[in-house]
Amino acid sequence: ISTTDLIEAYKICVCVRKRPLNKQGTVKEIDVVSVPGNGALLVHEPKQKVDLTKYLDNQVFHFDYSFDETTTNDMVYKFTAKPLVQSIFESCMATCFAYGQTGSGKTHTMGGDFTGKQQNSAKGIYALAAQDVFHYLNHRRYADLDLSVYVSFFEIYNGKVYDLLNKKAKLRVLEDDRQQVQVVGLEEVYVTTAEEVIRMIQTGSACRTSGQTSANANSSRSHAVLQIVLRRNDRATTLPLHGKFSLVDLAGNERGTDVSSNDRSTLVETAEINRSLLALKECIRSLGKNSDHIPFRMSTLTKVLRDSFIGENSKTCMIAMVSPGMASCEYTMNTLRYDTNVYDA
Ligand code: ADP
Ligand code: MG
Repeated sequence: ISTTDLIEAYKICVCVRKRPLNKQGTVKEIDVVSVPGNGALLVHEPKQKVDLTKYLDNQVFHFDYSFDETTTNDMVYKFTAKPLVQSIFESCMATCFAYGQTGSGKTHTMGGDFTGKQQNSAKGIYALAAQDVFHYLNHRRYADLDLSVYVSFFEIYNGKVYDLLNKKAKLRVLEDDRQQVQVVGLEEVYVTTAEEVIRMIQTGSACRTSGQTSANANSSRSHAVLQIVLRRNDRATTLPLHGKFSLVDLAGNERGTDVSSNDRSTLVETAEINRSLLALKECIRSLGKNSDHIPFRMSTLTKVLRDSFIGENSKTCMIAMVSPGMASCEYTMNTLRYDTNVYDA
């Protein structure tokens, strides 16, 4: 990398990505989302007048970047997470979120497609970030820092933390009297190559979806958090923290409007997801306002990410994913409203 690759990262960056129409299936999806460029995104919402004539209500939303269905993971990465990877070498706490309804492309964007069905499987932001971490580690600008890279990977389901690098061990979250939050016993693995990180992501992701005992413990109902931690090599037993990048594949937000379910565990699950997504929005808004009060205690998600919301050196990128189909329109509108709400902070 050359010095021209060194980029100034935003404090808060809010983007949207539209996924392509589904090609499989018998029902043809109707595309109601268009991306004219310059950070704009349009939804052509089907509506009905009192006399029952149908019309399309065009609504426009504005973001830092809007990515259309032809955009690759590489391009999305370049404008969103890449500047954040560099920022952790400059002692920042960076966070990148993938937000949206189930099926909108969160895991495709973050984890990539390693299903094996596709020959040229697309790398996700996790893998691209891991590669760049090792590029920057060897960059002459940072060589003198003498840093080591550590990785942890966990899931938050129903407010509980499970270690994806240690057979889904259930972990406790503790806050000490100086408000330092700790996930007790979380595996933090020392890594020396991007390939090692990618293998861990694959193992962890497999662990996430398999071996789920309860029927509703679906991966789309949990948040997955990959953390890339830089520590300064020191003679001390605990190496001092230099920077941290948290990459979060959030739980699907679709149940936000659906309260039709009578299943108690689903209701509890939904309430927990809504609470954590609301808490997240509030924390990012506080960050944007440079407010002293960060309501991180509102949920487990924001508690474990506390470091990301405090201080001058916090940087956040939110990528909202939307499905183009008419059937998803209501959820798409919810996603865009949430995203613009963070933006208007
Ligand atoms: P989510 O994690 O939000 O539930 P997924 O990432 O699993 O959604 O995406 C649902 C399906 O759509 C997957 O089969 C995925 O491969 C496909 N998909 C999502 N986004 C894209 C994209 N940008 N390009 C091609 N396929 C995509
Ligand atoms: Mg997913």
